[in-house]
Amino acid sequence: MWNQQNTQGFISKKAIIEIANLLNISTIEVEGVISFYHFFHQKPTGKYIIYLNNSITSEFKGFEIIKTTFEKETRCVFNKYNNNPLFSLFETSCIGLSDQEPAALINFYPFTDLTPKKVISIIKKLKNNIPIETFADNPISKIQYVPEEDKTVFFKKYITGNSIKNLKKETSESILNKISKVNLKGRGGAFFPTALKWKACKNNTSSKKYIICNADEGEPGTFKDKALLIDFPGLVIEGMIIAAFVVGANEGIIYLRGEYKYLLSKIEKTIDEFYKNNFLGKNILGITNLNFDLKVELGAGAYVCGEETALIESLEGKRGEPRIRKYFPTDVGYLGKPTIVNNVETLANAARIVELGTNYFQNIGTDKSKGTKLLSISGDVAKPGIYEVEWGITVKELLRLCQATSPNYVQITGPSGECINESEFDRKICNEDLVCGGAIMVFNKFRSIIQILENFTKFFKSESCGICTPCRAGNQILFEKIQKLKKGLCTATDLQEIKDWGNIMKLTSRCGLGKTSSNTFSTAIEKFNDYFKLKILNEDESQNVEFDMENAIQEFDSVIKNNHH
Ligand code: SF4
Repeated sequence: MWNQQNTQGFISKKAIIEIANLLNISTIEVEGVISFYHFFHQKPTGKYIIYLNNSITSEFKGFEIIKTTFEKETRCVFNKYNNNPLFSLFETSCIGLSDQEPAALINFYPFTDLTPKKVISIIKKLKNNIPIETFADNPISKIQYVPEEDKTVFFKKYITGNSIKNLKKETSESILNKISKVNLKGRGGAFFPTALKWKACKNNTSSKKYIICNADEGEPGTFKDKALLIDFPGLVIEGMIIAAFVVGANEGIIYLRGEYKYLLSKIEKTIDEFYKNNFLGKNILGITNLNFDLKVELGAGAYVCGEETALIESLEGKRGEPRIRKYFPTDVGYLGKPTIVNNVETLANAARIVELGTNYFQNIGTDKSKGTKLLSISGDVAKPGIYEVEWGITVKELLRLCQATSPNYVQITGPSGECINESEFDRKICNEDLVCGGAIMVFNKFRSIIQILENFTKFFKSESCGICTPCRAGNQILFEKIQKLKKGLCTATDLQEIKDWGNIMKLTSRCGLGKTSSNTFSTAIEKFNDYFKLKILNEDESQNVEFDMENAIQEFDSVIKNNHH
């Protein structure tokens, strides 16, 4: 698919028929896959495809004016196929650059800190055929270390191959003990104990197993894995080799989100070097039975593919729809074989644990959270970016480090997490208190909470794969409630209904997207109670308001249209 998309700018009817014949499936199935992913198109696109990020941080940093400038300069309209041979414009939800907003990808090259002037200059250069790679930006990825250098994991000098050299004196069991001793949990946000996952896969007797690195961080506000892939791709690969050693796997895949396509060559170069040094391939470093081959596959723009079973479906060339949890991937995963899916940061940590030893980790963090955590901080702060912090740091301390300005609302873990208000800034980031997958979004007291929630709700509505009703309908209903709130037509009953729908979605949705997408809205109503009280009508007033249904439907339709491409 990527080949077709890259060479022709879209996947034509002819190509669809060819793919269907090749795979012996119907053309409808092929179209179903194409329509699932944001970066595949069935209509011709221009030579330059521009994806402008519409996250809430981008909205607050000038999204609308940047969008207008792109439209004016290219004479195209966003989210439409304009029949323009040069440009196509689309909005997209998260491109992992929230610390450098407004940002866009142009033919998957990053352009950050956009201003109208910068947009005018970019479009002029593209019209003049100046090669895009000569003036694309290099996104800042530098990790900032706090509070003390000797209590860090990623600041410790990384020497390629150190952790896998240690495998010569280890066994599967000894490594499982180490990983378990420091209580390493999945760093993508699910926090499943890594040792348990690896042990389950190890215990499966299948002769074919896979290790998959989930490099599909798509939660708006999250960009910490990108830093590891830029600065320490080798460490991530070493984590995969260690996982392969433990469970007995001999093949691995890095599932790299399409938005990070510009990192592909660097990762592939690292893989080549690993092969040259016998860190990959047959009989790695002469260790008996350690054979491991690795490749990278690109995602194509779908948030839900961060869910491990959806990711596996996507790797198998299908729509990235989460599987029903009949089996764990550790038993039935990629191509039906036992599979480990681990996040980038989890794998990098595993490599460091094997290299630095458990004592090192046990002296950092809290009782239940050992070591450090990478956090991507964005929003109303003077110093956004990626921070390595010791587990247990308070929100207040974080806000001081990133120089937050008049913080009022902090979003933990991104839209699927929870929001906290000023009275909670003494809470700690760790398993015992505020669990955080990696994103911290800070909003000051001048920001509209309704605007934040509208952005999040729109995001989930558009990213739901739609396969199960509670998530499909629930996210639509939450979006409608936001529209009502904006119009000043919400009552206390509506707020209660929002919470009720949240509970239904949490209990009955198939995957994490549906289970968590109402979290923020429901918690915001509680935590910013005074704010919401001012925004709602009392029930008597609501009887007197004439609701202009026709107008509401028209407005709603236009939002849906604009939101869909
Ligand atoms: Fe799809 Fe939502 Fe159901 Fe997950 S919860 S499977 S995203 S419809």
